[in-house]
Parts: sequence; structure tokens; C-alpha cells
Amino acid sequence: MMAELIDGKAIAQQVRDEVREEVAAWVAAGHEPPGLATVLVGDDPASAIYVGGKQKASAEVGIRGFDHRLPADAPHDEVARVLDELNADPAVSGILLQLPTPPQVDGGALSETIAPGKDVDGLTPISVGLLNKARPGLRPCTPSGVMELLRRHGVDLQGAEAVVVGRSDLVGKPMSALLLQANATVTVCHSRTRDLAEVCRRADVLVAAVGVANLVRGDWVKEGSVVIDVGMNRTEAGLTGDVDFAGASERARLITPVPGGVGPMTIAMLLKNTVLAAKAAA
Ligand code: NAP
Repeated sequence: MMAELIDGKAIAQQVRDEVREEVAAWVAAGHEPPGLATVLVGDDPASAIYVGGKQKASAEVGIRGFDHRLPADAPHDEVARVLDELNADPAVSGILLQLPTPPQVDGGALSETIAPGKDVDGLTPISVGLLNKARPGLRPCTPSGVMELLRRHGVDLQGAEAVVVGRSDLVGKPMSALLLQANATVTVCHSRTRDLAEVCRRADVLVAAVGVANLVRGDWVKEGSVVIDVGMNRTEAGLTGDVDFAGASERARLITPVPGGVGPMTIAMLLKNTVLAAKAAA
């Protein structure tokens, strides 16, 4: 039997519609609209597209945008000053520093100066700590998007064997923490894992976040499982995931396509985080 597709595009649109309604109700109740500040240093075209996409998506749901663009030679201290001002500005609910930054700006260090309550990327050490202690906080957008896909498809995670391939700070680690919090039994794999195929074969829920096109073969997938492909690899055949989609679809029960699976969820969850941050601040 062929797997049912998880339509990330449609679910992301649902989330965005819900966020728009939530923002409208918040403003109707007399609050200031949530605000999302983006900080872009330099003119890298890909980064400019990402930032533009985030600002456009914010505007569509009624989130106020603060679009800060600094020249490529902006000194580190100037970027630090902009972030300090945004941290102190009550109209700004969430802050994103677009990475990578030019070499004179230590983007990693500056990201960590974002106030925890405004860390809508959920990647600062405080947010990571809150996640790992299962305390309320802002969660990283891509793994939260995966959880939302699983939730909306009614996937039962209690006691399920979940295998996450990849242990990055951005995806693999927070993904495993979120699955653990949902009471799955979680195994995290990485480049040094022995017999990756065999570990994957026991997964009721398999999440691939590696960055190697088609690494996860069809016969690594357990019959009747749920397969989530976070990978986004540019190949000659176009955008490809980390999972051999055709092979995996013959065995899985549910599967995300690439593109149109996890990808669209990331910005939707960023919008959700911005509203959450605004409400928590108020
Ligand atoms: P990353 O930082 O490069 O981490 C990759 C992870 O995969 C590492 O933990 C690495 O292990 C592991 N790995 C590499 N080769 C492996 C192999 N042959 N077998 C087993 N594990 C292996 O990447 P990332 O930022 O997590 O991103 C992963 C993928 O997701 C990329 O394709 C990226 O484009 C995509 N992505 C998509 C979204 C989205 O919105 N859909 C968002 C973020 C990322 P070691 O730790 O041992 O090196």
C-alpha cells in the first residue's frame, strides 16, 4: 500500500490562517499587534530572500515588521547596538538575526544576546535549556513544525519508537527533545552511528535531518511507520530530501514529500512563536 502524503503546504496554510485570526482577536482586545524584527547585515541574495519571505509572511497575518538592513561593512558593535535597541523596544516581540553574518560580525555570539523572551528562533542557550527541562519557552521552528505535522495527523507518540537521524543544534537535538517530551522512546543517530539502517528499521516515527540526498533507503523503513524528511538537498534532479521517497512510500503509512512537507512549516511556526512571545510579554 502506498503511504498517505503529509501535505505540509496545506497544514502550514492552516497554521498561518489560525495565527491571523489569533492576531486579529489580540488586537481587537486592545493590545498592540505582535512585532517581528529581522536584522540582515550585508546583501547576500539568499539571505535577503529569506528575510523578505519572513517579513511578507508576517505582514499577511497582521504581525508588524521591523526590517533592519545594515551594510556589509557594518562593525560588530553597531549590530550589537541594533539588537540591544530591539531587546528594549516593547513593540518588538521577536528578533531574528539572519546568519551567516560578514566576518567582522560574530553572528553566533550576537544571536545569544537576543532576550530569551524574544528568541523566536528558539536557539539561544536559555531557550535550549528551557526545552530540555520541559519548561515553557520558545521552541525552534523546524522541529516544532514537525511536531505540528504529527499532531494534525493524529500520530500517537506515547511509547512509540522514534529515530532521529542528525544531531544538529538546529534540527536533530531539539527534534529529539520534543519527541521525548511527547513520551516517545527516542534514538538519535549521527555520522558515527553503527548500522544506521538497522536502527532506522525499528522506527515507528523516523525523522531524517541529515543533508545527504536519498541517504535513507526504502528498505530502512518499517512497514506502517511515519516518515518525516527534513532534508533539503539541491541536486541535478531538483530539491531532494534525505529519504528515498519512492522506496519509503511503499512501506510507510504516512510520509512528507520534499518539497511541500516540512519546509513550509518553518515560517508558519515562526509566526506562531512571534504571537506566543507577544502574549508572554504582555
Ligand atoms: P547539519 O548541521 O549539517 O547536521 C547534519 C547531521 O547529520 C549531523 O548531526 C551529522 O552527524 C549527521 N550526518 C551527516 N552525514 C550522516 C550520515 N551519513 N549518516 C548519519 N548521520 C549523518 O544539518 P542540519 O542543519 O541539521 O540540516 C539537516 C538537513 O535539513 C539539511 O538538508 C537542511 O537543508 C535541512 N533543513 C531543512 C529545514 C526546513 O525548513 N525544512 C530547516 C533546517 C534544515 P555528525 O553530528 O556526526 O556530524
